[in-house]
Parts: sequence; C-alpha cells; structure tokens
Amino acid sequence: MAKSSSKAAAAAQSKAPAEDLPNGEGVIIAHHGVTVEVRYTGGERFMARVKRRSGHVVGDAVQLRDGVLKRLPRRTELRRRDAMGGVHLVGANLDVLGIVVSPSPPPPAGFVDQAIVAARSAGLEPFVVANKCDLATSAELVTALRAAYADAVAIYPLSAATGEGLDGLRAFFAADHRGAFVGTTGVGKSSLLNALCPEIDLQVGTLNDSTGKGRHTTTVSTLHCLDGGGELIDTPGFNDFGLVDISAQELSLYFPGFEQGQPGNCRFRNCRHRTEPGCAVNALVAQDRIPAARYATYLEILNDVEADEAQSRSRGRKS
Ligand code: GDP
Ligand code: ZN
Repeated sequence: MAKSSSKAAAAAQSKAPAEDLPNGEGVIIAHHGVTVEVRYTGGERFMARVKRRSGHVVGDAVQLRDGVLKRLPRRTELRRRDAMGGVHLVGANLDVLGIVVSPSPPPPAGFVDQAIVAARSAGLEPFVVANKCDLATSAELVTALRAAYADAVAIYPLSAATGEGLDGLRAFFAADHRGAFVGTTGVGKSSLLNALCPEIDLQVGTLNDSTGKGRHTTTVSTLHCLDGGGELIDTPGFNDFGLVDISAQELSLYFPGFEQGQPGNCRFRNCRHRTEPGCAVNALVAQDRIPAARYATYLEILNDVEADEAQSRSRGRKS
C-alpha cells in the first residue's frame, strides 16, 4: 500500500484490516465504531478495523506490528457524563482542559470550580477561556474570574467571533499541548473550535437551542492539529452534563485557591475543611489568604457533593 501524507489521499484510503497496514506507531485521531483512523508518527493516516468495544479512544497511542494494533499505556483519561448519567471515555493522553465561559449565557454557580477540580483530578491542567469579550458585559465577568482564579489557573479573555485574544490561546497550545473544551451550551465552544481549526467546520448553534440536539449528528470525538502547534479533541456533548461527578475528597484536594494549604497540611488526612481542629485551610481563611467568598463557594459545593454521594450510596450505585 502506497504511503501518502496528503489529506486527500488519506481520506481516499479504504478501510483496511490492520494486517494490511505497515508497522509503525501513531495516535488515534477518530473512532467510528469498528474503524479507527490512525495518524502515524510520520504524518500518514490510515483507517484500520478494530473490534467493536475494543476500548480504543481518540488520543490513544497505538503501535502496529504485523497486523496487530496494540494500545500503549495512557497518561491521562478524560471522561464525560451524558444526560442519562452514563459515563464515557472521550479522550486519552490530554494535557489541558479549557473551561469555556461567557457573559451570556453566564456560567452556572460552581461550574468553573467543579470543572477545575474535575480536570485536576484527571491529571489535566485546567485553564479558563472567557469567550465573547466583544460583548460589553464581558468586562465584569473577566474581573470576577480574575479575582477568583488568577492565582490558580490561566485565564484567556477572547472572542471567537472577532478573533481578539486568540493568539494567546494559540501560543499556549503551541507548547505541544493536547486539550479539549468544556462549557455549557451557547458559550461558544463550536465557534472557538472553528476559529482555532478552520478545517473542522462545526455547525454553530443558536442560544435558544438549549438541548444541543441535532447540532452534532454523531457523538464521535476527533483529534485536530492546530496550525501553530498543539492538538484539540472535539468532544461533542461536553457541556452542561459533561462533567463527571467529583468526590468530596477530590473537591478538597483540588479546589482552586486551596493550593497553598494543600495537600496534607491539615491534622486529619480526610479533613473536609469545615470545622475540624488543625485545619490548614481554615487557618488560611482566618488570615484572609483564602478570601471568605471563595471559602463559602467551597462549602456550598461540598454540601452538594456530599448530598449526591449520600444519594448514590442509598441507591447502592456507588461505593
Ligand atoms: P456552543 O454551544 O458552546 O458550541 O456555542 P456556539 O459556538 O454554538 O455559539 C453559541 C452562540 O454564541 C452562537 O450564536 C454564536 O454565534 C455566539 N458566539 C460564539 N462566540 C462568540 C463571540 O466571541 N462573541 C459573540 N458576540 N458571540 C459569540
Ligand atoms: Zn482542613
């Protein structure tokens, strides 16, 4: 089989059983049921058949030897939850997670905190994208985001519509980062993906399309290279329902702003930083090094997380 690095030729490749493909190493860039598209290290792309439920996901590093496609160990796994509560693996070996927010629609209470905790517990570096900075109401949101998160994560105010601020994000990805975006419907994730990788050509929805249905005809994730370097995984449906539940322990370990008191500086290893004696977080709050408002947000989310955990336990679904 002739090798070719041109996109057109790669697209023209017919689905080949793995035994017809040359030996090599690569990454899975798309997954369609029983076929995966593999981009070899040299840039050539091939479609290969795999078993249904083979467990391969986009971002997986694979090795092809004598017709056998072997998945290499993963550095990280990114999961999402669907509207029915099912959990799906959407990508492997990601480094960063972009949490996209906008002044309209604004992020639901606690969304950014939960997304930061979810990213960190999956081993990904979170950052915040404040999209729609062309809107007058954006300045207030950006000020609030900076006050809450500037010490914890990078914040990129930008406009997918006008292109303002996109270069900063491109430079971040250029440091060989592989990432994905999470955010509620309507914040501009599709617009942002289109602006960063024009060849994707995703359909951009309207704000009243609250279900997100019909916008993506499939739920297949794909991996795209950015022109300036770095990669993005397009994960349809990574929105309001997208975040996998976090545990109370993850929340207290990874809550943005608690970094300086963590980990393990509290007297009790399982400290939830409420009123436990010898709590390092409480000490920082008392010294105003953690703002009272941030701490109050933590307590609110902790209550929610614990209520969810108790509910799951009583249903016997979760340990
Ligand atoms: P998604 O649901 O997160 O994928 O959001 P979409 O990309 O579908 O965008 C939702 C709406 O916001 C659309 O009407 C877009 O045209 C609009 N939008 C996206 N980015 C921007 C932006 O930077 N500025 C403004 N003013 N509108 C935007
Ligand atoms: Zn504590």
